[in-house]
Amino acid sequence: MSGSGKYRLGVLYGDGIGPEIVAAAWRALRAAERAGGVELFDPVELPMGLGAIREHGSALPQRTKDELGNCHGWLMGPHDSASYPAEHRAATNPSGELRKRFDLYANIRPSRTLQGVRGVAKDADLVIFRENTEEFYPDRNLVAGSGEWQVTPDVVVTAGVFTRRAAERIAHAAFRAAERRRGLVSIVHKANVIKLGSGLFLRTCLEVAEQYPHVRVNDYHVDAAAARLVRSAGEFDVIVTTNLFGDILSDLAGELTGSLGLSPSINAGDDIAMAQAAHGSAPDIAGQDKANPVGMLLSAAMLADWLGAKHGDSRLTGIGRRLDGAVAAALAAGVATADLGGAATTGQFAQAVIARLEAAH
Ligand code: ATP
Ligand code: MG
Repeated sequence: MSGSGKYRLGVLYGDGIGPEIVAAAWRALRAAERAGGVELFDPVELPMGLGAIREHGSALPQRTKDELGNCHGWLMGPHDSASYPAEHRAATNPSGELRKRFDLYANIRPSRTLQGVRGVAKDADLVIFRENTEEFYPDRNLVAGSGEWQVTPDVVVTAGVFTRRAAERIAHAAFRAAERRRGLVSIVHKANVIKLGSGLFLRTCLEVAEQYPHVRVNDYHVDAAAARLVRSAGEFDVIVTTNLFGDILSDLAGELTGSLGLSPSINAGDDIAMAQAAHGSAPDIAGQDKANPVGMLLSAAMLADWLGAKHGDSRLTGIGRRLDGAVAAALAAGVATADLGGAATTGQFAQAVIARLEAAH
């Protein structure tokens, strides 16, 4: 790692609207640093996506992977694998490959009610910790082939893998986050039907809970959790759950609080994390300065916060808090891109955020 005391940050633009929203996020992150009188990030641009195929023959060139190993985290644009030449399409998708390579086992997706954004949920402020490595998204080392077997033309068996180790580490991540938030973890499972697998997940999370005596804990079957999210999302603080349930619930929670363009995420391992908006590459509006950068901006803020907690560096958590606050303030003031019914361009939205950071300076 760099000895200069700086945090090395990969910047991967990707496809479609990626270059626009990642550039906006990086500029805003820099402004959030300046507002705190610090310059902690040391950015390195790394090729990924269609441009990387054209220039380096791979959507995720070896140099990119090697360089990321020297980074503390990175900003990841979306990729549009469907647009790649056939021989590259079949290969892996860059996000999935990086998740596996760096063992990014925690997919962390917050959803909160934002002033100025019309959403169904009026008082949501929750974050979902989705286990990101196993269950019905099989690791090919654990389950032969795809984890699915065609028994006869009309019968298929699909296997889900659940391990204590995976449950333990996602649970620890969730409980640590709850300590810094409102101190409540809700375990979401289906232990009444998937008795062994979901049962192991529930039991393991409850064991981990004992190490966090100041955090309250409850648990829901996934169906009950979905209903409760719609009825009273405000009751949730941190949700910890398995891969498939987390996939579904985070889209539900994202939609309850606004639009797809607003949802941030990070994928975190023990030592490194990737900031990535929850939406895709939106090729229909690419290159038109129309994309909503909020999801990517808030993802960058989350990454700064995560790095701050990880390294015990409050200057980083400050950067995350300022960036997050400036985005919320711009939205609350009515600055909005077309998908939210506004007229601001991507660049104008980013500028509105940066102006707020500079004014606070
Ligand atoms: P992927 O397969 O990569 O998930 P997708 O086709 O499922 O892609 P998106 O690329 O996320 O989904 O786009 C879905 C729709 O939402 C498109 O019409 C797109 O323009 C819109 N959209 C997605 N992200 C944004 C954004 N940040 N700002 C504005 N519109 C967006
Ligand atoms: Mg999609």
